[in-house]
Amino acid sequence: SQVYGMEVVELPGETYEDIGGLEKQITEIREAVELPMTRPELFANIGITPPKGVLLYGPPGTGKTLLAKAVAHETHAAFLHTVGSELVQKYIGEGARLVRELFDLAREKAPSIVFIDEIDAIGASRTEAMTSGDREVQRTLMQLLAAMDGFEQRGDVKIIGATNRIDILDAALLRPGRFDRIIEIPLPDTEGRFAILQVHTRGMNIDTSVDMMEVARLTEGRNGADLNAICMEAGMFAIRQEHTKVCQNDFIMALSKFRYDFERESRLPT
Ligand code: ATP
Repeated sequence: SQVYGMEVVELPGETYEDIGGLEKQITEIREAVELPMTRPELFANIGITPPKGVLLYGPPGTGKTLLAKAVAHETHAAFLHTVGSELVQKYIGEGARLVRELFDLAREKAPSIVFIDEIDAIGASRTEAMTSGDREVQRTLMQLLAAMDGFEQRGDVKIIGATNRIDILDAALLRPGRFDRIIEIPLPDTEGRFAILQVHTRGMNIDTSVDMMEVARLTEGRNGADLNAICMEAGMFAIRQEHTKVCQNDFIMALSKFRYDFERESRLPT
């Protein structure tokens, strides 16, 4: 359902099975977010406070949202999805109110996971010269910090932030008791791309001629979102050619189409 400023998914369908690679990152997030939700007594017995929030950082399209949704699925938690830039592009005073409402709703829906994508849009470190827009962003950040500090350690509301600009984040966000775990989600290497291709071709009718490791090698620099699109495109070529299975040549065609698209994209002025 769509609540003003956020999207609420009662139970995301994504699971860890839908994530290619990122094994180390999955283990880390399970320890930091899933374990405190499913086995809080482990933390109570040992006498440590579980992390309140985890920050995922890395380039776009690498699976940060996917990972956060899979954690929500695994813990049977509601998934509250918001985007930093949308929280502050509203009217003066709205950002802080939206953050307050977000956390009220998270408590109401608990167990829940609050996912804040593009957290740098509200959490960039401050500069000297502040415009009124900056002050609005500032108020929103203050409200977020207060909300994170304010909620009790019951452990049934967790916050996952995501950014591809960790370098500009305000240190206040990264203090203990806030985002106290930081997990890098990098671009996939060849093994990672192979694993992602496996995920996205799982439901496809793939001919035995396809050398998926070769496809992985030919897609250096591509992210998970690109690989998903390449698999789709290979399927489209197969349909056009009236193949009954997707064969190696369909992948080669898809790759050359994408290579052209990517090159054109990178030539576009930014
Ligand atoms: P952004 O920073 O742009 O929000 P993100 O890192 O959150 O990006 P996702 O939204 O999780 O990226 O990924 C977009 C899509 O790309 C996913 O829905 C999935 O289809 C595919 N994808 C990305 N990474 C992976 C992965 N590791 N395994 C499988 N699919 C992936």
